[in-house]
Amino acid sequence: MGDVISAESATTSGKVRIGGRNTELGFFREVERLSGQKLSACYQCGECTAGCPVAFAMDLMPNQVTRMALAGMADEVLQSRSIWLCVGCNACVTRCPRLVDLPRVMDSLRQIATRRGVRCPEPAIRAFHDTFLQGVERGGRLHELALVAALKLKTGRLFQDVPAGMAMMAKGKLAIMPETPEGKAEVRRIFEECRRRAREGDGHAG
Ligand code: SF4
Ligand code: SF4
Repeated sequence: MGDVISAESATTSGKVRIGGRNTELGFFREVERLSGQKLSACYQCGECTAGCPVAFAMDLMPNQVTRMALAGMADEVLQSRSIWLCVGCNACVTRCPRLVDLPRVMDSLRQIATRRGVRCPEPAIRAFHDTFLQGVERGGRLHELALVAALKLKTGRLFQDVPAGMAMMAKGKLAIMPETPEGKAEVRRIFEECRRRAREGDGHAG
């Protein structure tokens, strides 16, 4: 007979083979715990996808991400470009009749992909993500010029956007020196607390 559930793989890796693909039965629970969203509330109306400004570049549409995560298709979802292309604009949230907060779902999927060491298909976005967070942790707030410089070193795109950057500096939109905000120590403690919770398996940690 064709594909049936493989009990052996279910017990050793949490995955079963269904329909010729790996299915991780507990995956939706992990996503729901991290995101605080109920994936089963989604009834696949497609409103999120219709309003998503970056859906044209995604390999999985936002409503597909929800359904596939619910169905335990962890490999496909975590390896998708879509979870990294979501810009968190909230357009989908305002359109969703079931109040599913998709940006939170996407954020949780990025966290899980990172923890599991899944290769990011969008290295430049991943570099931005990491550099942004490192900058905020170090300085308490974002210093845009330092972010741009670090990102260019990481990606090797040294001269891309230089004219735009010069124009922004001329108009005072890019500060040369970083500010030292009040609460810098608290910001650092937030990062430390997130790491501690992640180590202890708390859902709301990155
Ligand atoms: S708009 Fe909401 S209910 Fe409709 S498909 Fe998207 S997430 Fe699901
Ligand atoms: S938050 Fe993400 S998924 Fe939702 S509309 Fe914006 S880019 Fe698309």
